[in-house]
Amino acid sequence: MRLWIKDPLAILAEGAERGLVIEGTRIVELVARGRTPSAPVGASFNASRHVVLPGLVNTHHHFYQTLTRAHPAGFKKDLIPWLVALYPIWARLKPDQLRVAVRLALTELMLSGCTTAADHHNLFPPGLENAIDVEVEEARKLGLRMTVTRGAMSFSQKDGGLPPDEVVQDEDTILRDCERVLKLFHDPGPGAFMRVGLAPCSPFVVSRRLMGDMADLAERHNCQLHTHLCQIQDEQRYCRESCGMGPVDLLEETGWMSKRTWLAHGIHFNPEEISRLGRASVGVCHCAASDMALAAGICPTKDLEAAGAPVGIGVDGSASNDSSNIMEAVRHALMIGRLRYGASALTHLDVLRWGTEGSARCLGRDDIGRIAVGLEADFAMFTLDEARFSGAHDPLAALVLCGAHRADRVMVAGQWRVIDGAPAGVDLAALMAEHQAMARAFA
Ligand SMILES: [Zn+2]
Repeated sequence: MRLWIKDPLAILAEGAERGLVIEGTRIVELVARGRTPSAPVGASFNASRHVVLPGLVNTHHHFYQTLTRAHPAGFKKDLIPWLVALYPIWARLKPDQLRVAVRLALTELMLSGCTTAADHHNLFPPGLENAIDVEVEEARKLGLRMTVTRGAMSFSQKDGGLPPDEVVQDEDTILRDCERVLKLFHDPGPGAFMRVGLAPCSPFVVSRRLMGDMADLAERHNCQLHTHLCQIQDEQRYCRESCGMGPVDLLEETGWMSKRTWLAHGIHFNPEEISRLGRASVGVCHCAASDMALAAGICPTKDLEAAGAPVGIGVDGSASNDSSNIMEAVRHALMIGRLRYGASALTHLDVLRWGTEGSARCLGRDDIGRIAVGLEADFAMFTLDEARFSGAHDPLAALVLCGAHRADRVMVAGQWRVIDGAPAGVDLAALMAEHQAMARAFA
């Protein structure tokens, strides 16, 4: 059936002033000013109260951390002591707790306008070997698109690393499971609901051999690669001391300098490294809230984008944000970006592009992230009927500048997943009660 999303208050697309038509899972027509759909429609949705965006894409998260938000163990700490304090708490994670954390995080993201989410799961203590399976099952139930990344850590405290010994795995086990979850869940085709990425926590918690093996595996299975890189300045020094080369050299040596790769944070690069990343189309996920919370620095977003690197947006894990609101992340990216580049250098349109098309490119996708004919029917639709928007002039700018934080309608592949501000098929109060009760185990 053809559905006309009709007469939006505003829309982030050219030539769609009267809305758009979807059929099945895709956008089949944009309706310009003064026009009507070229063929009869079976139904229409009156969007005259709605500002319509492409579905927002979150490119970095650690879903399990929703169980340790605003945790006192993390207070007054920079990244490394913060990790040292929280790792033993996270090491207690059990499958049923992960399941509820994933459900809560995806629901929270969806309510803020997210239609595709990436998660970076690195903890595999005994009993949690099938963490990726749990994430896939929950995303499928909620109907969001996901890139679930199979994380990896093999160096632990016994090797002088940060993670407790019980959360890491040996590298043969890691590679076998990467191959298992790729075969089971990865769909590289257009319109995919589930993709798998391969994602060592950082290049410093696994061997260079494993980095290279993962790059080979990604090539064979046509999937993305992801890792944290250059979140703090010390990483540059540590990399040069321990590996005898810079972090971008390390990516080069292990086969990671390609458009398959997107990096979380990506703050402390020198100009030469930025141009190399750009030439190779390596994506960078800008995690503004987390970078402010841990005083990590300000991502060189504009320089990366000018060099050719896709720039996406991520909320990051809920222990360092501690909110999973993708619209809030877009606003943070604008504000911190202006702090770095000046007030005239960035507009709401730049950060909306990062949160949609840029994020999609980071995940290796060109079938989502824009409103155009042939792309998937994924939308985030916001009303401006809260006090915070009263008196606003430009509706698209108002979403970012006045701080939109809750979508009224969200559609994924032609299906409504948020209706009147509520998640379809989810008892939110019951989910929060269950999640809150589980969080007590992490006190
Ligand atoms: Zn992270």
